[in-house]
Amino acid sequence: MSFLPEDHAPDAFREECAVFGIFGNDEAAKLTVLGLHALQHRGQEASGIATYHAGQFVCERHSGLVGDIFGGRNATRVENLKGACAIGHNRYSTSGGSGARNIQPMFADLSGGGIAIAHNGNLTNALSLREELVHQGAIFQSTSDTEVIIHLTARSSYPRLVDKLVDALKQVEGAWSLVALTPKKLIGARDPWGVRPLVLGRLGGSWILASETCALDIIGAQFERDVEPGEVIVIDKNGLNSYFPFNRRPQRFCIFEYVYFSRPDSIVEGRNIYEVRKRIGEELAREAPAKADLVVPVPDSGVPAALGYAGASGLPFDFGIIRNHYVGRTFIEPTDGIRHFGVKRKHNPNRAILDGKRVVLIDDSIVRGTTSKKIVQMVRDAGAAEVHFRVASPPTTHSCFYGVDTPYTEELLAHNMDEEEMRRFIGADSLRFVSLAGLYRATGGRNRNSAAPQFCDACFSGEYPIRLTDQHGGRKDGQLSLLADVA
Ligand code: AMP
Repeated sequence: MSFLPEDHAPDAFREECAVFGIFGNDEAAKLTVLGLHALQHRGQEASGIATYHAGQFVCERHSGLVGDIFGGRNATRVENLKGACAIGHNRYSTSGGSGARNIQPMFADLSGGGIAIAHNGNLTNALSLREELVHQGAIFQSTSDTEVIIHLTARSSYPRLVDKLVDALKQVEGAWSLVALTPKKLIGARDPWGVRPLVLGRLGGSWILASETCALDIIGAQFERDVEPGEVIVIDKNGLNSYFPFNRRPQRFCIFEYVYFSRPDSIVEGRNIYEVRKRIGEELAREAPAKADLVVPVPDSGVPAALGYAGASGLPFDFGIIRNHYVGRTFIEPTDGIRHFGVKRKHNPNRAILDGKRVVLIDDSIVRGTTSKKIVQMVRDAGAAEVHFRVASPPTTHSCFYGVDTPYTEELLAHNMDEEEMRRFIGADSLRFVSLAGLYRATGGRNRNSAAPQFCDACFSGEYPIRLTDQHGGRKDGQLSLLADVA
């Protein structure tokens, strides 16, 4: 999906990403490649790795999948990345084109030394900050919000690089989990609300920072703990130090990480994603039962919830839809036309299972409804007698401005239609969503009705915990392309 005219799309300023960092390992770059590979689900558009060696930063940043960028005949790129410390990044964007200048890590030489930064999240005042910086004469090389952090770091009057970075982070608003590399240090930092995940691990004498624990598993590293909201971790040859330099905020981890974004085998904020998704399915079965013969997931994202639904309802589970794994996520195709086609490339009905059956179809979410509509038709065409659609998240009524790529609010199906209209739109015999309270129960979290909900659930509730500076004052509603607006 594209939010901007095609020629602006490569610079779209909205992405969900993965970060990885390692300190004190002679195989730093190779381990970073593996870590990024495990985190590929968080971003498939581009990847980059930066290392520091013999007085110099080295950076390899390219479009494509990690395995293609750093594997096969491109394996020599890893050889270029010498050094015992590395940071890496996977970029996710909905836009077409290469957008090469936006690929992270971003690097700059500052007074006090160089710094490379890789960032996951979205800054909600980046546009305002950037306009101010441009007004003061700053020359931007990219349209990424990460570069705003670099400019602010460069301008800080603090003498030490770490303090400069913290000074910069005090000025930004929004969601950010980042890793940074300086000549002597690996730094990890998480915004005070803790919207995006970041974990700390250990491999022998090496420290690792990563978006999710699955990146630790792949390299045989031990999970130490989550980086805490508002925490800055500084690792150097003397060990690890932890700081809390920001004003404390109520914690608001993104609940959509549990619904869709994180990998099922990851443990995020103390909870295994797979187990949470299964419990969402159980809640859904209790809240929205169906008279049916079979529970069928929309693979892969609907599988754990469908297992939970089947277990709680006593209905049999079967793979009535088979997924082709050699295509990217449907959602990130560049244009509407291709996206529609993408559903067919990705899913095929298993007629032998579906024919004549009353089917409960389970998916994790409905965003624009395009996927669900196609899938329902596909299942009907394969002979299903009835299709009862059950969604393992509440209706997505609001855009995310904290880093999960969602369409403009006006483009969200649930923003424009009530449940019955949506049912008709997707062509199902019945349609039900899990409630927000049910979703909270599935996470084992506090009651949603408490005064302080423990997650950011703005996409379902419209309650945005962090100020939306750029989105107010008459600006267009969305995580905008900086280029389009600052031109
Ligand atoms: P649609 O309703 O056709 O816009 O797409 C919904 C499907 O896309 C869901 O079933 C999810 O599996 C997937 N999805 C939901 N949110 C996202 C997202 N932010 N990025 C990528 N895929 C998503």
